[in-house]
Amino acid sequence: MDHFNYVDGAMQVEQVSMAEIAAQVGTPVYIYSTATLSRHVGVFRDGLSQLADPLIAFAVKANPNAAVLATLAKLGLGADVVSAGELLRALAAGIPANRIVFSGVGKTADEMRIALEKGIYQFNLESEPEAEMLSQVALSMGRKAPVAYRINPDVDAGTHAKISTGKSENKFGIPYDRALASYAAARDLPGLDVQGVAVHIGSQLTDLKPLEAAFVKVGALIASLREAGHDIRTADLGGGLGVPYDPSQPLPPSPAEYGAMVTRVTQGWDVRLMFEPGRLIVGNAGVLLSQVVRVKQGAQAPFVIVDAAMNDLLRPSLYDAWHDIRAVHPKGDRAAANVVGPVCETGDTFAMHRDMDVVAAGDLVAFMTAGAYGATMASTYNSRALTPEVLVSGDRWAVVRARPPIEALIEGDSIPAWVAEGATE
Ligand SMILES: *Cc1c(COP(=O)(O)O)cnc(C)c1O
Repeated sequence: MDHFNYVDGAMQVEQVSMAEIAAQVGTPVYIYSTATLSRHVGVFRDGLSQLADPLIAFAVKANPNAAVLATLAKLGLGADVVSAGELLRALAAGIPANRIVFSGVGKTADEMRIALEKGIYQFNLESEPEAEMLSQVALSMGRKAPVAYRINPDVDAGTHAKISTGKSENKFGIPYDRALASYAAARDLPGLDVQGVAVHIGSQLTDLKPLEAAFVKVGALIASLREAGHDIRTADLGGGLGVPYDPSQPLPPSPAEYGAMVTRVTQGWDVRLMFEPGRLIVGNAGVLLSQVVRVKQGAQAPFVIVDAAMNDLLRPSLYDAWHDIRAVHPKGDRAAANVVGPVCETGDTFAMHRDMDVVAAGDLVAFMTAGAYGATMASTYNSRALTPEVLVSGDRWAVVRARPPIEALIEGDSIPAWVAEGATE
């Protein structure tokens, strides 16, 4: 459920008119709903209500906007970060270090040092060489790093290949059948305090079975590790629960169903459970608002050319992702259309042969469910300015990231003297 609704024939975000935001900020623009964010946090937390003191660490990469992070911080969430940049953003937004987990296969020594200085809750290690490096860095600072190994359970998440992370051929985690050996080696590293096990098998999962299969493997590993004398106190079950994008598709499992499964599978584990939801929290809390530039005749369906493009919302191009596209002022008639952006790539296509509201030049359209992996993946490809972002709460709204002037893009580069010399003869 979200808070983007039609009132008197016009789409609103909570109590704010989308057309008003477009008029004041221009398009394209990302718009986030605070009520939807807090609803999703509440629903996820309710799903886990049978668990003692779980740590819910929002996956910052899904939406790192400072206003979004600060909203989630106020709701008590921690953060799952995958770079020093995300770590510093999370801290700056008020998320305490003792609720921050650091994931990722390529943490550098500098990033480890920063995270150790800040005193984060846990490093999720993804390889033995990484464990050795972290131990050295921690020792050099006179610290011990709290760690878990992310295991690769070799489970097929059944989602798009580019967002599957739990198969043995993926780069993530340590192989499940080497885990005991990897933990034994980690125990001998003096800079590490081995406290947990972690898993994350992919994103936009629409079936609980692969998650359950992975969690069962985590449970078995915790038992084996304890037998081998390890003091395992945490289990991080990752993120990945899917959200509805296409209203014609069956709904993904609800947080309540997910929570019931987790509660059943983790019974008796005697650990602090951790979760890293990203998309579930922010996906439906954001839209990308865009304006139709013109409509061009196509061979079969017309091309609706909008002012948003793949550089603003990459998911359709990168993952063949489906976003619902709605007119802000629907006139009641529908027809098939191809919705494309202005970027010079055939991949700059949001939808082909989509049955949708009929729109004309100047009309506003909203790409729904764009709050996760939207603005965060934006680039300046085709020298287009980064998309601004707006946060709404009730009848209030604010620009939480301004549209940079094109001059900033140009001034960001510099021309070396040897090129500049004689450039204009
Ligand atoms: C991306 C990521 C997540 C979040 O995934 P969602 O599908 O957005 O919930 C959680 N944990 C790790 C390690 C990730 O890389």
